[in-house]
Amino acid sequence: MELPHNLGKRVGILGGTFDPVHNGHLAIAEAVRPALALSSILFIPAFLPPHKPTYAISAFSHRVAMLELAVAAGHPGFFVSRLEAEREGVSYSIDTLRALRQSLGKDVQLFFITGMDAFAEIHTWKANRELLDHASFVVIGRPDHCQQSCGQTVATNFPGYAFVESRGSWEREPGQGAIHPVAMEPVTVSSTGIREAVRQGRSIRNLVPGAVADYIESQGLYR
Ligand code: ATP
Repeated sequence: MELPHNLGKRVGILGGTFDPVHNGHLAIAEAVRPALALSSILFIPAFLPPHKPTYAISAFSHRVAMLELAVAAGHPGFFVSRLEAEREGVSYSIDTLRALRQSLGKDVQLFFITGMDAFAEIHTWKANRELLDHASFVVIGRPDHCQQSCGQTVATNFPGYAFVESRGSWEREPGQGAIHPVAMEPVTVSSTGIREAVRQGRSIRNLVPGAVADYIESQGLYR
């Protein structure tokens, strides 16, 4: 598997469909990086997202191209990985984490970043308990109830985890990943909203980086 050589020792992983990547995704990465002192963030587009019908998704090559354009513009430390396409088949996070763990070794800490909505569905993910053998979770939620909502999902799905006040995270035992809530004002943008706007001929210039808007236009995506 090919990975950037300069990821550092604290690597954030932001998975998604990225159809297309938007300012909300970038805002999450910008917020999480300093909050957890991450050395880098790896954006990993799903080849075949388990939770979405495949006919409705743009080609992997388009989604990667847009991500490359988004991170190229002034985001040192942000990288894009094609590893889920190299593996083919349905893109399960557990397989991605196993592969990253194997290729980066034990000295690198992995931080799997998700929105609260996705985290609340964790019971539907393949091998969800094993995820924490390979990575910590970073869960982004609204400032008013981030910790509360996150706590409910932790209590239901991850027995043995307790909140450690001094570190602001749920933990179980050394060697197991922690679960870090990160509060962030909601960014009201979604890929669904952007695809809809393009279809209706509205501008998306304030929702995605300029180079991504140009790409969508020149390739005729989402019409
Ligand atoms: P779609 O509208 O097609 O479902 P999306 O905008 O939710 O897409 P994804 O690529 O599915 O984007 O999201 C990847 C990750 O980013 C998920 O963990 C999701 O929860 C999170 N995310 C996406 N948009 C936002 C946002 N505006 N604020 C916070 N988290 C977000």
